[in-house]
Amino acid sequence: MKIVLIGIQGAGKSTQGNLLSEKLGIPYLSTGHIFREIAKEKTRLGRDVKEIMNAGYLIPDKKTARIVEEYLKRPEYKNGYIIDGFPRTIAQVEFFKNGADKVIYLEVSDKEALWRLSYRNGENGEIREDETLAAIRKRIESFHKFTEPVLDYYRKKGDLIEIDGERTIEEIHREIMKHLGE
Ligand code: AMP
Repeated sequence: MKIVLIGIQGAGKSTQGNLLSEKLGIPYLSTGHIFREIAKEKTRLGRDVKEIMNAGYLIPDKKTARIVEEYLKRPEYKNGYIIDGFPRTIAQVEFFKNGADKVIYLEVSDKEALWRLSYRNGENGEIREDETLAAIRKRIESFHKFTEPVLDYYRKKGDLIEIDGERTIEEIHREIMKHLGE
């Protein structure tokens, strides 16, 4: 099964993605994680990606699609995957025509996400370089502008599972499993 997870930063995508991965035995991957790894590289691409990420902007669609395509060619993703963070724009949806069987939207309000993110940073004491308040706000803004049309697309197609993300981790997980028929 090919599952896509969509939601603003702080919605709980990686928590739910990892839980699902464990339960369903399907590998989880996140484009945010992939780009954070690339940003560590001392290459032109690494430097460009780091600069864009730290400002809270999206990596250009073609570059993103090429990188995701390369990853998904790996044998471990042959029988399916749970992908967090892609597609995030309509152009990326175009590149991903047969890429999603089900799309899960974890819905939380901007206010809740901001609160969770400031708490998350305060909790473990380390602030991720791309998680400044300005970058987080920019990312939320990008979500409404570029990713909401993606939700509309999958909603019309009948592939969108909409989940209230402002509940406990277990409740959310159970509801997702129910929708997936598991
Ligand atoms: P995330 O951890 O999903 O919030 O991603 C962190 C950052 O990686 C984003 O702010 C973007 O700069 C970049 N990124 C992740 N996924 C994508 C994508 N599908 N398209 C463009 N940029 C992305």
